[in-house]
Amino acid sequence: MVVSAVLRVGISAALVATFGVFVTASPAMAAPALQLPFPCGQKWQLDTWQHAPALDMVKEPDQHGTDGATLIAPAAGTVNQSFYHSNAGNVIQIDHGGGYYTTYLHLGYRAVSVGARVQMGTTIGKVGATGPTSNGHPHLHFELGYDRDGNGSASWGYAGSERVRPTFNGVTYGTANGQTWNNVTSRNCGATGFQAPAMMRDDGDGTMTIYRWSSTGSSFARASDYTSGGWTMANTGDLVASGDVDADGRDDIVAAYQNG
Ligand SMILES: [Zn+2]
Repeated sequence: MVVSAVLRVGISAALVATFGVFVTASPAMAAPALQLPFPCGQKWQLDTWQHAPALDMVKEPDQHGTDGATLIAPAAGTVNQSFYHSNAGNVIQIDHGGGYYTTYLHLGYRAVSVGARVQMGTTIGKVGATGPTSNGHPHLHFELGYDRDGNGSASWGYAGSERVRPTFNGVTYGTANGQTWNNVTSRNCGATGFQAPAMMRDDGDGTMTIYRWSSTGSSFARASDYTSGGWTMANTGDLVASGDVDADGRDDIVAAYQNG
């Protein structure tokens, strides 16, 4: 069963009424809701050093596992840069829409090419120490950029570039030089958790089925049949409600991940 357009509107309104989150009419007005670019549950140390708002990231504890760590997209978007830069090594930039871009330097491996569509959680590469400005020290240099001059990308890598403070899971980082955040836990939980809003509904196929709000925020899309591993309430602040939100006569379960 496909959710009709009329029902989509009803569901959207219900979610806004219930949770007041996530569904915005003007994507250009706000930076994308980012999660850390690492798999769910991993803990990373974030440092601005002398290049706020850019962040250097190493894996906790004690940087073990930083080199070769899997890098995943922090939000949906389209890859607009993927190349080897003579100073920064392997570089990827993702266009998240609304003028916002994320940039990744020193990668050991690039898994995506220009034009690739990614969803939050899509693997895009591996952390490494490429390029002379990595100083041979494995870490991720991360920047959120805003394309102020409207040329179709965000400049990066130097003071005065278009980089801006990133917000991960509702917390803003990179506010000043010399800052360190320890044990920042990734809530980039992708297909193994749920990204809000999500709905579990009996669509008549004989199993409960998980629908997720699409990353572009336009509709619910069928994600997968329910399994115990695919629907977890993992954290304080996650929200859940039940009721017949799509008015098909069968109860649904709706959940949202409290994103700051
Ligand atoms: Zn750096």
